[in-house]
Amino acid sequence: MERKRLGDEDRGHGDGAMSRGHAWLEVGYLLGPGFRLLFTDRTGGVSEPPYDEMNLAFHTGDDPSKVAKNRAILARWIGLGDSRMIYPQQVHGLSVAWLEGTSVRSVTMDEEVLRGKDGLISTESGLALSVLTADCVPLALAYPERGIVAVLHAGWRGTIGDIASIACRLIEERTGAKASEARAVMGPCIGPCCYEVDKGRAEQFVEKYPDGNVVFRHGGAWSLDLKQANIVNLKRCGIEESAIHLVGGCTCCEPRYYSFRRDGITGRQGAFLWREEKVR
Ligand SMILES: [Zn+2]
Repeated sequence: MERKRLGDEDRGHGDGAMSRGHAWLEVGYLLGPGFRLLFTDRTGGVSEPPYDEMNLAFHTGDDPSKVAKNRAILARWIGLGDSRMIYPQQVHGLSVAWLEGTSVRSVTMDEEVLRGKDGLISTESGLALSVLTADCVPLALAYPERGIVAVLHAGWRGTIGDIASIACRLIEERTGAKASEARAVMGPCIGPCCYEVDKGRAEQFVEKYPDGNVVFRHGGAWSLDLKQANIVNLKRCGIEESAIHLVGGCTCCEPRYYSFRRDGITGRQGAFLWREEKVR
């Protein structure tokens, strides 16, 4: 079902990404003109093992000065400045923050508006919304005609709790925009090849996704395809299948990514979505 899986030709697309010592995926073109979407990986930062190199999360046990340096490297590359890089304090929950105007100006790492949030939405240009992951699904949404962007963190809880539909409903309530206007991109996450779960978890997903190819049984074990489950979620919201793109591979199979399932103590990669500022 990986209908849009990018090969090497798309790695490090744009802005000389390869030449700066990393191979991040830049795929904003999948969302439309003016949108920028970046998925980082382990490359390009200064953290020491087991967080090497580009760990973006403070809560992992990594040296905070190294994490700060990595975030600064990224902010410089994105070119928006530190205060325009928004990192929510994720909790594997279903709360989404809407950032506009004054809430953006007051945002810092410790701001209440970001606490316990697993998704961010904004219509502001020049504001990079992010989620950090190490196996969970990073999900980006854009409404090209409206300039709305959203980034969501969907592990198994965010997937079965359907954080995608929570975000789409909130966007429709506040702006009138229908999910059918949206485009979606899911980045690197753990694949069904590696995401083994117990019977109870498997049964929860079979109940929620009776028709999808979401749960696989092999012998006495079960595994989940979180991307496929989120495709079902997005389609149930009204997003066209042709507007849903999958990029990156399995974080657990591919050494270039952080994987909690594979490594336990490790770093986090990031998904960053922003709209370019209008040329004045
Ligand atoms: Zn795998």
